[in-house]
Amino acid sequence: MCRPMADIDVAIIGSGPAGISAALELRRLGVRKIVILEREREAGGVPRHCAHPPYGFWEFGRIMTGPAYARRLVRLAAQAGVEIRTLNTVLDLLPGGVLDVATPQGRVQLQPRRVMITTGARETPRSARLISGERPAGVINTGALQAYIHLHGMLPFRRPVIVGTELVSLSAVYDCRAHGVRPVAVIEQNSRATARWPLNLFPKLLGIPTLYHSEVVAIAGMPRVTSVLVRGAGADQKIACDGVLLTGKFLPEASLVRGSDLVLDPAAQGPAIDQFGRCSDPVYFAAGNVLRPVETAGWCFREGRRIARYVADDLAGRLAGPQGAAEIVCGDHVKFVVPQRLVPGGGAKHLEIRVRAAVQGRLRVLAGTNIIFEKNISALPERRILVPLRVLAEHGGDRFKVEIKS
Ligand SMILES: Cc1cc2nc3c(=O)[nH]c(=O)nc-3n(C[C@H](O)[C@H](O)[C@H](O)COP(=O)(O)OP(=O)(O)OC[C@H]3O[C@@H](n4cnc5c(N)ncnc54)[C@H](O)[C@@H]3O)c2cc1C
Repeated sequence: MCRPMADIDVAIIGSGPAGISAALELRRLGVRKIVILEREREAGGVPRHCAHPPYGFWEFGRIMTGPAYARRLVRLAAQAGVEIRTLNTVLDLLPGGVLDVATPQGRVQLQPRRVMITTGARETPRSARLISGERPAGVINTGALQAYIHLHGMLPFRRPVIVGTELVSLSAVYDCRAHGVRPVAVIEQNSRATARWPLNLFPKLLGIPTLYHSEVVAIAGMPRVTSVLVRGAGADQKIACDGVLLTGKFLPEASLVRGSDLVLDPAAQGPAIDQFGRCSDPVYFAAGNVLRPVETAGWCFREGRRIARYVADDLAGRLAGPQGAAEIVCGDHVKFVVPQRLVPGGGAKHLEIRVRAAVQGRLRVLAGTNIIFEKNISALPERRILVPLRVLAEHGGDRFKVEIKS
């Protein structure tokens, strides 16, 4: 392969809300050449196939559907002079910011001055959920359902069981009902819905029963699904259905990071960053749902914009260096924290925390054996908890632990 092309200031991998907002902010701050690399035929990320509101309220002051929101982002990027290269799949992140990219014209290497990784998240598929039984057609994730319905005009089933009660699960219920699909049950392993009140009432209002403390343990049928076996508090029950929709349980789309020299945080499953979004190789930054499973489009948009400011500062030689980082680690009940490192010099306002399972107790941040922050919480696995990073920065130290005493 020939010498990497080095005329790009910032290359952004992924054209979802985080990637596009970052590009817009970099242009606003006067950064000259920004290229977004997107593997799909169309730019816009996940919102392209989420054909429901509410997108865009905080960003544009109005409520939009996902596709309208994605189109608006792409239009703004074009107006701002951002180059979006679709059908460009980044295959490798090499040291020093060299990117190996598959393009319709063949493989190329790029060497931008900085790289932002904004590759988003995906849902956990059946294989990783360890659901036993037969392997019929009709067992899919929400992203596939949305693509079937909104991009290809197809219905994969008529009477599915829906697994999960996250926001994305409710959007799936909405999509199903809007297209004549009648879910037979919603299955939730926790004692309460993950989506907040009053949204969690949505299935009930449509007459769809929600089974709490329950799990789908086996799928039957061939070539199509005919039933699932559900294990709950009482005896196992067989539910007749013609499909299984596995919603949520998101994972960062971080295979690029996994295959690179960048440090991956095994807890959040995305790249380990400091409060500026900077990865272990300081040419790389990351933002959006690749950092953690999972946030809303609005959150990712704001995060992309914020990290872009640090990238612009870095290009101008104004960003505090990566030296002297304190590590932030997970204690009891804490599944992950983002960022995982704190360097001297300001930056993000919050430490983001998630728990492993529903828990009530006292959230504590420790510096050594000193408790430097505590509060009572009642937390669910997919909901964010925020702690002001200022508390850690003001205390100082080289290691902080976040835990919940239940
Ligand atoms: C099925 C599903 C439904 C969702 N529904 C909602 C919802 O209704 N509301 C909401 O607020 N949030 C929803 N989300 C969360 C969603 O992730 C965020 O809304 C938002 O899209 C995240 O923005 P992002 O920029 O981080 O990533 P994304 O929007 O996921 O964009 C990432 C982009 O990176 C590209 N990419 C990945 N790898 C590569 C590579 N190697 N090379 C080049 N390009 C690459 C992808 O093709 C994609 O376009 C949903 C997520 C999923 C998976």
